[in-house]
Amino acid sequence: MAIPRFWREIPSRYNLVGSKCGNCGTLDFPPRLVCPRCGRRSMGKMERRKLAGRGTVVSYTIIHDAPKDFDMMKPYVLAIVEMEEGLRMTSQVIDVELGDIKIGMPVEVAFRKLGEEGEAGVIHYGYKFRPAR
Ligand SMILES: [Zn+2]
Repeated sequence: MAIPRFWREIPSRYNLVGSKCGNCGTLDFPPRLVCPRCGRRSMGKMERRKLAGRGTVVSYTIIHDAPKDFDMMKPYVLAIVEMEEGLRMTSQVIDVELGDIKIGMPVEVAFRKLGEEGEAGVIHYGYKFRPAR
């Protein structure tokens, strides 16, 4: 039996793929078509680059005043994470007690289902961080 298309697509969503500029080497996530540093000089030189998904917390904020839709999970931690590859990403940190979060903490990417949409049941995934195991 054929596997429904959206299930087959899920493995690619679990990969964290950014872009690397062939001109200056800048890494970005999400991937870009044009390097923010080189501009036009990077055109045609951007490569896809898979990220390992591991990094360390360099800064964080505990958000107490979350929008209404996020009532169920407030307060929560929003962190800037420096990835092993050197780029920085901002995302929520989950599976951590608010008192345990600290600068320098190793974290890893965790993909979470964000929601489903419409009759086709398109499932949206997003990335968050959790303490590295
Ligand atoms: Zn560049």
